[in-house]
Amino acid sequence: MATWYCKDCSEYIDERMASWHESQGHAVLGYRAPKSMEDRHLWSS
Ligand SMILES: [Zn+2]
Repeated sequence: MATWYCKDCSEYIDERMASWHESQGHAVLGYRAPKSMEDRHLWSS
């Protein structure tokens, strides 16, 4: 699972829509969901 964020639309989008926003010239940021306990610790802080 991955969560992406489009700065131009100011909304969170899924990975499939991320490529569409990029094709529109939007600034898309990608966030990978945590898989390990260490990653979860970083996200929960
Ligand atoms: Zn967008």
